[in-house]
Amino acid sequence: MSVATATQAGRGRPARATFPVVELFGPTVQGEGPEAGMPAYFVRFGGCDFRCAWCDSMHAVEPMRVRTAAEHLTTKEIVARIVALPDGPNLVVLSGGNPALLDLTDLVGRLHDHRFAVAVETQGSRWRTWLASVDQLVVSPKPPSSGMAGQKHMRDLQAFMSEVAKTRTGRTALKIVVFDAHDLDWAADRHREHTEMPLYLSAGTDLDLEEQETIDRLRVRYRWLCEAVAQRSDLAAARVLPQLHVIAWGTAKGV
Ligand code: SF4
Repeated sequence: MSVATATQAGRGRPARATFPVVELFGPTVQGEGPEAGMPAYFVRFGGCDFRCAWCDSMHAVEPMRVRTAAEHLTTKEIVARIVALPDGPNLVVLSGGNPALLDLTDLVGRLHDHRFAVAVETQGSRWRTWLASVDQLVVSPKPPSSGMAGQKHMRDLQAFMSEVAKTRTGRTALKIVVFDAHDLDWAADRHREHTEMPLYLSAGTDLDLEEQETIDRLRVRYRWLCEAVAQRSDLAAARVLPQLHVIAWGTAKGV
């Protein structure tokens, strides 16, 4: 059954709606952003309104690949799958694709019922009311190297951020993947616009390389980014991280 044909039941929740789940795994460790290094379960939803040049999750983006890769699960089934995983984390990360394309109100409610903290990462292109109730919202706008940083992204991001300011009381962070100096200047501009949010900069990972070369290049880019940020007073409050999951697991999926 599709989301559009779902029926309503319980606390206003769509009882039988299903959602395209491309990956559901854990326990693992969050590799980026404010929860970097924290144990977590991950749910990766299929479907995205962007096509970033360096996307490492195209299996959750391209409609054909999503059709092949995704299981269509109800929120109850998603929670049951998480609960059936080995014990450990109390954090569930909802990722994509862009999870904000979906109505995950029911899922967030059920995860909270199970005493999980919920973190969401989205590029800030589409506001959803349920985003107001998650414990950590990571807004990850896409810089010039993605090929997506046009005027529409800026307009949508502005509208998204005004909803964040109106509705959210929980933690919200800005996380920007940086590949080059142009991206870094762009990230500094976004930081200036949203100084109320902590800024996390992630050194970007190159695709389609052997594992050791991927990690070697990431190390070089991370060092460059550390040195570049350390010299900028406008980024004195930024935190600079590599994509930790790449160091641990390379570009393997589902870990
Ligand atoms: S927004 Fe994220 S998931 Fe979508 S194309 Fe860009 S990097 Fe990939």
